[in-house]
Amino acid sequence: MKGIKMTAPTGRLAGKKVIVTAAAQGIGRAIAERFVQEGAQVHGCDINEAELAKAAAAGIHTHLLDCSDGAAVAATFAQIGPVDVLAHAVGWVCHGSVLETAPEDWNRSFRLNVDSMYHAVRAVLPGMVKAQNGSIIAISSIVSSLKGFPNRAAYGATKAAVLGLTKSIAADFVGQGIRCNAICPGTVESPSLQARINAFDDPVAARAAFIARQPMGRLGTPEEIAALALYLASDESAYMSGTAAIIDGCATN
Ligand code: NAD
Repeated sequence: MKGIKMTAPTGRLAGKKVIVTAAAQGIGRAIAERFVQEGAQVHGCDINEAELAKAAAAGIHTHLLDCSDGAAVAATFAQIGPVDVLAHAVGWVCHGSVLETAPEDWNRSFRLNVDSMYHAVRAVLPGMVKAQNGSIIAISSIVSSLKGFPNRAAYGATKAAVLGLTKSIAADFVGQGIRCNAICPGTVESPSLQARINAFDDPVAARAAFIARQPMGRLGTPEEIAALALYLASDESAYMSGTAAIIDGCATN
């Protein structure tokens, strides 16, 4: 694992069946790999076939799936069957103020970031209700769910919606043994972050600006987010639901 030294696996998810969305790269991939290491049967869904093939080599059961397609999500999740844990990581960053956000980008943001969660939770919840057990983990962001950032109008609106849906699910299903929590990361090293940095005229300055807004003086790693997801997926977090778990290098403090 990159960056921080992680504790050795101890089977914290042994016997659990899990779905991770956006499992081909970045945070979703790190979560899927960590869950495999901790003994879970992990089903990873993504649209990136080439990266999914690499994920399969790490022991993840892979499914080529567009998570914004409700019918496809329902069909794939039905094929996987009931699960103990859903970690939903699908997300797309749209750059710009509200005036700079075209209607198609606004709609795409909600389709990818919010509708995908709606489809995924509706596909797993009936099985969790039947089992009277389950943990749903949504990847929100500190962006707008906790603090306004420039040029994140659509992204921030969707991540606030992800947090709102998280809290609604937690409230509606708390009596049925189901927990739902959101992780709100600060800036994390990932392939899409690198692509966004490379798109600036001066990528070196752009990276420095991303780091400058992190009081710890560095970006987070996907593995650090996966460590928090592991806690939320495991029974160790049994008393925790409806929270926005902040992991941001002190950025919103
Ligand atoms: P990433 O953006 O590098 O990768 C995203 C993955 O999602 C890719 O594998 C892509 O193929 C997949 N994907 C995209 N559309 C899909 C679809 N319709 N169906 C299925 N899969 C699809 O990963 P990341 O930067 O680690 O981001 C993961 C999540 O974490 C996102 O929700 C993002 O908003 C959130 N997040 C990221 C950061 C960060 O700084 N990287 C910070 C806060 C929150």
